[in-house]
Amino acid sequence: MQSPITDPSGAEPLIEFDRVDKSFGDLKVLDKLNFRVDPGERVTLIGPSGSGKTTILRLLMTLEKVTPTADPETEGGVIYVEGKPYSHMEKGGKLVPASERWLRQRRSRVGMVFQQFNLFPNMKVLRNVTEAQVHVAGRSKAEAEAKAGELLELVGLSEKADEYPARLSGGQQQRVAIARALAMDPDILLLDEVTSALDPELVADVLAVLRDVAETTSITMLCVTHEMGFARDVSNRVLMFDNGQIVEQGAPEAIFSEPQEARTQDFLRAVL
Ligand code: ADP
Repeated sequence: MQSPITDPSGAEPLIEFDRVDKSFGDLKVLDKLNFRVDPGERVTLIGPSGSGKTTILRLLMTLEKVTPTADPETEGGVIYVEGKPYSHMEKGGKLVPASERWLRQRRSRVGMVFQQFNLFPNMKVLRNVTEAQVHVAGRSKAEAEAKAGELLELVGLSEKADEYPARLSGGQQQRVAIARALAMDPDILLLDEVTSALDPELVADVLAVLRDVAETTSITMLCVTHEMGFARDVSNRVLMFDNGQIVEQGAPEAIFSEPQEARTQDFLRAVL
C-alpha cells in the first residue's frame, strides 16, 4: 500500500507523516500532523519546549506509537518511510497498527543520537562502535572494526579507540555516539538536542563533525535543537513548530532573517 500523498515531481519522500495524531492521556501533542522529508534533506525542528518536536523523533525511533485512528485508509494517522507504512503494516489489504517484529525490522534503517550520548559505559570506544554492527547487522569483527576505524577518523577520535567513555569529554562522547549511529549505515539520522548537554566550548566540535557528515554523505537528517547556529549551519530546511503544528518552514536564511509568522518572530526574538 503506497502512501496517499503524491508529489507532482514524482519524487518519493523518505519520511511522511499523514495526519498523525499523538496523545498522552488527555494531552494532544500532535494533531493531524502532515509533513514530509525528502531523501538527502537535512531538516531542523525548532520551536518552544513542549511543542512536540521530540515526540516526532521518538515516533520515528519507534520509542512511541502513534495514537490510532478508527480508519487509517481514510483518516490517516500513519507514518510512511520510503513510501511504505512504518507505524502500521498491511494485513488482509488493510492498514493495522504495526507489530513489534515489523517495527524492529523497519527501524533498523534509522539511527539516533541522544542528548545524553547513551554510550555503553563498560565498553571501550571501539567496541561501542562495533557492537551493533556485529550483533545486529551480522558483520564480521574485522569488517566492523574497519568501519569503526573510518568513522572514528571522521569524528576525529581515532586515538581514543581504546579508552572507556568515562575518560572522554562530553563532546568526545557525543562524537563517538555519532560514529556509532553511522556505523549501521542508516538512511535517516535523528538528532535529539545533541549539543544541549555540552559545555559551550565543546559544542563547536560536535557541530563541525555534523557539518562534515552533512558534506561527505547524503544521509537524511532530522534534528531537534535549541541551538540556532546548528539549524543555520547543518540544515537546509527549518520547520518552526508550535502546539504540535508546523507554523512556518523554509530555508534557514529565510526563517532566520525574514520570519513571516508572529509566533516564529517571537520565538526567535527570545532565543537569539
Ligand atoms: P518538545 O520536544 O517540543 O519540547 P515533546 O515532544 O518532548 O516537546 O513533548 C510534547 C508534550 O508531550 C509535552 O507537554 C510533554 O510533557 C508531553 N510528553 C512527552 N512525552 C510524554 C510521555 N511519555 N508521557 C506524557 N507526556 C509526555
